[in-house]
Amino acid sequence: MSFSPSGTVAGAAAEAELAGPDAVNALVGSIETDRRDSFVALGSAFLTRLPASPLPAPYLVGISADTAAQLGFDASHAHDPAFIEYFTGNTTRDLPPDELPYASVYSGHQFGVWAGQLGDGRAIGLGEIEHGGKRLELQLKGAGRTPYSRMGDGRAVLRSSIREYLCSEAMHHLGIPTTRALCVTGSDQPVRREIMETAAVVTRVAPSFVRFGHFEHFYTNDRPHELRKLADHVIDRFYPQCREADDPYLALLNEVTLRTADLMADWQAVGFCHGVMNTDNMSILGLTIDYGPFGFIDGFNAGHICNHSDSQGRYAYKMQPQIGYWNLFCLAQALVPLFGPHYDEAVRNEKIIEDAQRVLEGFRDRFAPALERRMRAKLGLAEIRDGDDKLANQLFEAMNANRADFTLTFRNLAKMHKADASGDAPVRDLFLDRAAFDVWANAYRLRLSEETRSDEDRAIAMNAVNPKFVLRNHLAENAIRLAKEKDFSEVERLARVLRHPFSEQPEFESYVGLPPDWANGLEVSCSS
Ligand code: AMP
Ligand code: MG
Repeated sequence: MSFSPSGTVAGAAAEAELAGPDAVNALVGSIETDRRDSFVALGSAFLTRLPASPLPAPYLVGISADTAAQLGFDASHAHDPAFIEYFTGNTTRDLPPDELPYASVYSGHQFGVWAGQLGDGRAIGLGEIEHGGKRLELQLKGAGRTPYSRMGDGRAVLRSSIREYLCSEAMHHLGIPTTRALCVTGSDQPVRREIMETAAVVTRVAPSFVRFGHFEHFYTNDRPHELRKLADHVIDRFYPQCREADDPYLALLNEVTLRTADLMADWQAVGFCHGVMNTDNMSILGLTIDYGPFGFIDGFNAGHICNHSDSQGRYAYKMQPQIGYWNLFCLAQALVPLFGPHYDEAVRNEKIIEDAQRVLEGFRDRFAPALERRMRAKLGLAEIRDGDDKLANQLFEAMNANRADFTLTFRNLAKMHKADASGDAPVRDLFLDRAAFDVWANAYRLRLSEETRSDEDRAIAMNAVNPKFVLRNHLAENAIRLAKEKDFSEVERLARVLRHPFSEQPEFESYVGLPPDWANGLEVSCSS
């Protein structure tokens, strides 16, 4: 409780009583719906303003205190009915036209094929909040049909909304760039998927929700003016350093290439599979965006496919970096009309292809060392030696052959000692073929003996990069099953555990182990 300036008990009580609605009003009032240099100011070629479709009797499923604080809001007020109604999209109907939420239009390549116009089919932007020197856009996902809904119902179900909420917050705390989630609200309104489910809304938060597909949209529709306007918006707001370059748009491609390469290295290093890396699900800021059938790998399989609708394995774990690169090609293609204004018309075409290819080649130069750095840290190697990449690859091969648990293997490596095998058991026991593990362990120990760092110091460093807690499918499933019974305590508890993925948290040991047998049959599809 805060102290009232008057210092009287009555004053404090009155303040506490008013604080809920006041705090919600202050939050909602701080959302700017028409700021000059925001995405929404790009105008009607980019978006359609419309109200959200209300949902009956909404309730709060989860609230991220951390994301709330980013917005200057105290999460303890999130149970206030005004908060729940607002973030379910129930109060936008009577807004004046220029303050209405907005759905944006984009296009994209889905599963390698041009899919034409897509757009925010079930997400609407509320506007931006500036707090603590940072500007964040807020978006309701699942808030009803928009002009871009195509055959969809504009809704998101409770199951997938809880998964997005938990995973985006978990990724943030793993140190991986991502959109974030403020809250999830639910309603008993039925929604048809493979089975009947119920509706929910996730409030997503990010500096920008612009995707590669936004650029592809204006390129394929032959709208160079809008294409440039969008690129200028992204550069001015997020990559102002590109203005210094000879060709700011090529510089933009370069920045996005580097961020995407880093993101791919981040995903590979924690065993995260996105599941639907279509170009419309690729963030221009290099954020993890659009959580659908994602998954963290349990037993390692380099070919792991987390999306059971992905029959070809296009988005399998081992494919992700290549697909990131492929998606950047699509982005580069869309930016072509903007490249090379300084070239003579006679040589321009040839030059810009050369330039774009050179920039795209930068993906490999960035990705390989980025992953190598992460792998070296995961193995606890402070020094650089030839053969470190081979050591890492041999571990992956053994993990793959034995379906050794990704998270536990890396976490338990920190328990090994460089002088003897007395600390091997926790990781060794994850490999059915103990002899194969021992071969690798001996090579690893030999390598560790070249390190000056003590075992203790190495373990501390490794535990800061190898998470103990990730959002395994079965953990999410447990929280979802209870939430369907209106018990949201497990969503809250799991969110709390995932906020400290690198800490020991011995009281949460049950969140660490291998998935139970019932989880083997869990399948996650695109349907969300
Ligand atoms: P995704 O692959 O889930 O990111 O979605 C691809 C496209 O389909 C996007 O344009 C989404 O907005 C749209 N979409 C997905 N689900 C729905 C739905 N239930 N209603 C309307 N549009 C949807
Ligand atoms: Mg999407």
